[in-house]
Amino acid sequence: MAEHIIFIVTTLVAFGILAWSFSRIFRIIKLLKKPYSISNVGERIKRTLNVAFGQTKIMRFPIVGFMHALVFWGFLLITFGSGEMLIDGLIGTPFDGNPANDRIFSFLGAVYDFLIAGSDISAWIILILVIAFLIRRNIMHIKRFTGKEMRHRDHKDATLALLMILFLMVSLIGMNAAYIVHAGSQAKGIFPLSSLITDWIPANSAHSVELIMWWSHILLIFIFANYLPYSKHFHVFMSIPNVYFSRTEPLTKMNEMESVTKEVKLMLNPDAPMPEEEEEVARFGMKDVEDGTWKNYIDSLACTQCGRCTSVCPANQTGKALSPRKVVLDYRRRMEEKMSGLLKEGKTYQDGKALYPDYTSYEELWACTTCNACAQECPVNIDHPSMILEMRRYIFLEESKAPALINAMSTNIENNGAPWKYSAADRFNWADNLKITINGEEKPVKVPLMADKLAEGKKPEYLFWVGSAGSYDEGGIEISRNFAKILDFAKVDYACLGTEETDSGDNAKRAGNEFLFQMQALMNIEIMNGYEVKKIITCDPHDFNTLKNEYCDLGGNYEVIHHTQFIQKLIEDGKLNLNSEVFKDKKITYHDPCYLGRGNGEYEAPRFTLSKIGEITEMHRNKSRSLCCGAGGTQMFKEAEKGDKEVYELRTEDALETGCNLIATACPMCMTMMKDGVKMKNKEQEIEVADIAEIVVKSLGI
Ligand code: SF4
Ligand code: SF4
Repeated sequence: MAEHIIFIVTTLVAFGILAWSFSRIFRIIKLLKKPYSISNVGERIKRTLNVAFGQTKIMRFPIVGFMHALVFWGFLLITFGSGEMLIDGLIGTPFDGNPANDRIFSFLGAVYDFLIAGSDISAWIILILVIAFLIRRNIMHIKRFTGKEMRHRDHKDATLALLMILFLMVSLIGMNAAYIVHAGSQAKGIFPLSSLITDWIPANSAHSVELIMWWSHILLIFIFANYLPYSKHFHVFMSIPNVYFSRTEPLTKMNEMESVTKEVKLMLNPDAPMPEEEEEVARFGMKDVEDGTWKNYIDSLACTQCGRCTSVCPANQTGKALSPRKVVLDYRRRMEEKMSGLLKEGKTYQDGKALYPDYTSYEELWACTTCNACAQECPVNIDHPSMILEMRRYIFLEESKAPALINAMSTNIENNGAPWKYSAADRFNWADNLKITINGEEKPVKVPLMADKLAEGKKPEYLFWVGSAGSYDEGGIEISRNFAKILDFAKVDYACLGTEETDSGDNAKRAGNEFLFQMQALMNIEIMNGYEVKKIITCDPHDFNTLKNEYCDLGGNYEVIHHTQFIQKLIEDGKLNLNSEVFKDKKITYHDPCYLGRGNGEYEAPRFTLSKIGEITEMHRNKSRSLCCGAGGTQMFKEAEKGDKEVYELRTEDALETGCNLIATACPMCMTMMKDGVKMKNKEQEIEVADIAEIVVKSLGI
C-alpha cells in the first residue's frame, strides 16, 4: 500500500514537472510568429512516416544511421512496455507480489507476445549500441562531434544521456529476467533474450530483484523525461513533431515578407488603396530569437547535435567561420538565456544582447551559399538557411550593413536591372549575329521577341527567360546563344522579352534585400502577365527557382522549365539526334547545380542528355550530396569570407578526382566557378567546362 502511494505521488510529481517544462515551451511557441501554412496534412503525415518513423534521412550515413534507426525503433517498442508499467504501477499490481495480477495489456494475446518480445530484443540491441555510441563519442573522437560550438558540457550532456539510456536498458533487462523467474509459468509475454540470463537470478530473491529493477527503471524514465527538455537529447521528444511541421516546399524557396509586399505595391502604384488594417511590423528579419518563428524554435529543440549539417557545409569545409549546427544551437542557447524574461514581459523584453551579433556573427552569416546541403542532410528536417537568410534580412533592411559589394550589386539592379554595371539597353545584345549551321551551311538566327509576336497577333507557347547572367555574363551569354540555336533548330514556338526583361531579383532576395526582390518580381510579373505567359524556359537554375517557387507568392503563376528538362523532352520527341562520336574521347563528369538538384529535385534531365553522348563518371559527392560551386547566395558578387580555400577549388578537386576531361554543368554561375577552378589548377588546356546546351550544340554540329 505504502509503495503504491509513493508511486502515485512520484508519478504526479514527475508529470507535474514535465508539464511545467512543456508549458514554458508552449508559451514561447505561442509568442513567436507563424512560419507558413501547415495545412497539407496528408503530405505531412507521409513525410513523418518516411523521415521520422522510417528514419530514411539518417540512413544517408548507412552504418551509423542504421544503428541510430535501431535505437529509435527499439525505443518505440519499449515505450509500449513502459506505458504498461506505468498503468500497472498506478493500479498497484506490481507491489502485491502476485505476478498473475500485473501486465495489464496481456489480454492482447499474440500481439502482446510480439510487442514484449520485440521490446526485450530491442533492450539488448540498444544496450550494445549505446555502449558503441559511448565509445565513439568518448574514445574515438569523431570529427563530426567537434567544432567551436560544441562545449565541454555538451559532450558531458551527451554522455550523461547515453548513460541514462544504458541504465534504462540494464534495469529493463534485469526486470524481465527477474520477472520470468518470479512469475514462472504465470509469466506473460515472451522474452527471447532476457530468458537466457535467468540463471543469474536466485529464485528466492527474484521478486525483490524484480521490484528493485522495476523501481529503478520507472524512476529513471521519470528522471530522463524531465532531463530531456534541458538536454540535446530533447530530440527524442521533438524530432517527430519537427519533421511533421517541416516545410513541404522546395528547399530553395524562400518565404516572401507580406509586410514588404504591401509597401512595394504602394511604391509601384501610389494610387493603390492603402491596406485597411496596417499591422505594425516590429522588425524586418531576425535580430533576436523573438523575431523568429515557432518553427525556428522547435528546430533548435530538435537538433541532435549530430553535426551532419556542418560536415556537408561548403563554407565550413573550406575553413570559413560558418557552421550550420552552430546557427541552430545559437538560437537554442540564446532562447534559453532569454526565455524567462520573454515569458515574464513578452516580446518587448530586452536584456541588451541579441542572437545577431552576440551569438551568430556577421562573418558566419555572409559565408552561406544557400546551397541547402545542411537542410538536405539534417535527419530531423531542420531548416538552417531560413534562419541565416532572416538574419541577413535584418542586416540589410534594418542596419543597411551588407558587404560593400552586395550594396553595389543592389544599386546596379536598381539602376540597370542587372547585378553588374551594364546598361539595361544592352540586355538583348547577347542575341546579336547569332548563326546556326545546317548541313554545312550557315544561316542567321533571329531570336524572336514577345512584343513583335504580339504585334503579329501571335502568342508563343514558351517564353525563353534569359536572366541577367544569360544576358551579360560571358559564360552565360554563350549558354543563351547555344540554347537559342537549339530552340531554332527544333523549331520551338518561343520568344524572349528582350529589353523588357529585368533582373529576377533572386540575388537581392538571397542578400536579404526583400524590397528590391519584390520590386523586380512585380515588374517582371506585370510584363509577363501582360503577355499572358504560361510556360517559361530558362537556363539559369537560380531564376528557375525564383520564377517557379517565389513569383507565385506575388501573383506570377507559370509552368517553369529548366533548359535541361526541355532538352530532354526534345530528345525524347526525336527533335534532337545527338551524335555521340563528337565526344568519344571525352571522360565526362557532371556538377549538379544546387538550385536545380537539391533545390528542385532535378538530377536526371541533364544526366539523360549526357548519357546520349557518353558515359558519366560521377564525382564522389553527387546528386543530393553534391557540393556547391560556391557562387550561390550572392557569393558570386562578393569577396569570399576568410577560409582555407575557395569553395570552387574544393569542388574542382572533386571533379579532378574522376580523371575527367569534360566537366558538364547546367548553370551559368556554376560554369564560371568551375572554369575558375580549372584555371586555378592550371588544367584549362586539358579540361573543358561546358553547359549542357553547348554540349548539345556541338553534338548536333549546328
Ligand atoms: S546552406 Fe550551404 S553554405 Fe549555407 S549553411 Fe547550409 S550547407 Fe552551409
Ligand atoms: S541541425 Fe540537424 S544535421 Fe545539424 S547537428 Fe542538428 S540535427 Fe544534426
